[in-house]
Amino acid sequence: MRKKICFIATGGTIASSNQGNGFMPSMAAESLISAVPQLAAMCDIDFLQLLQLDSSNLVPQHWQKMAMAVISRYDDYDGFVISHGTDTMAYTAAALYYMLVNIGKPVVLTGSQLPMENPKTDAKGNLLTAFHTAVSGCPGVFLAFSSHVILGNAAKKMYSQEMRAFWSINQPEAAFWDGEKLIWNEIPLPAGPFHPIIDLDDRVMTLKLVPGTKPELLKMLADMGYKGIVLETFGAGGVPTDESPLSLLPAIDYAIRKGVTLVCTTQCTYDGVHLDTYEVGVRALQHGVLSGHRHTVEALVAKLMLALAASDDPQVIAQMMK
Ligand code: ASP
Repeated sequence: MRKKICFIATGGTIASSNQGNGFMPSMAAESLISAVPQLAAMCDIDFLQLLQLDSSNLVPQHWQKMAMAVISRYDDYDGFVISHGTDTMAYTAAALYYMLVNIGKPVVLTGSQLPMENPKTDAKGNLLTAFHTAVSGCPGVFLAFSSHVILGNAAKKMYSQEMRAFWSINQPEAAFWDGEKLIWNEIPLPAGPFHPIIDLDDRVMTLKLVPGTKPELLKMLADMGYKGIVLETFGAGGVPTDESPLSLLPAIDYAIRKGVTLVCTTQCTYDGVHLDTYEVGVRALQHGVLSGHRHTVEALVAKLMLALAASDDPQVIAQMMK
């Protein structure tokens, strides 16, 4: 039986043209699909023009809007493809991954480095990979790009110009489109009934440490009302925690006393954070920071927003951040 796919367009380069002031999205959902005739041959497609934005202008409430678009149509389709700007697509993919808990159908984000209207565009190939993933029936939230299908919580935009912009970080990629078929790796399957979570607390920020970071910066974020901060630490989990005036420990104590959840990650792209390796990291752990383990910054930001909305109990939040 022919599969029925809902195509949700949100903007991005894929739909962009240069109207004299740089690229901006303008091409309608239906035109994107009709530019790739193989798609209509593959499945029945309905269109939803949900947004028409450069993804730099997306905010967490737009993630909720995308999640709601999927949830409200869940029973009517076999899968969903979402076209999206590449610049913040890893954040959206991670957010949808954690919001659409135990989803039983494919939700596949894609976009392109060059607009559909460019003769050298990668948009057609990316849409084809995304639709093949959507009709596969394989459940989950994925990001499909340059023939690679990545789990929604593991994608990172690694290149601003290369066609293979997205890579899977610290997890094997979900699948690869070899031109004829998808070759799947083992991926997590739904462990229970679909139960979406929509609430999120957007009072989350990241703080990337540089040598000599002023601890007041962390205090300032706490004073501004941020409830979750992802600290991008050095290497395996290096945090300045000695006796010097630049030690972050007093600011960490201050933020935690104010009810802020601090989650440490690493500035290294690969291998995750290992706070228990060096004394500098162990000290931070002893003062109450959480480990972001092997998650990307994008995944931690999304996960933290959901955890903070779910509870203000530090134990529950810590459990949810595992
Ligand atoms: N600025 C664009 C966006 O993120 C870039 C892209 O789509 O490739 O919307």
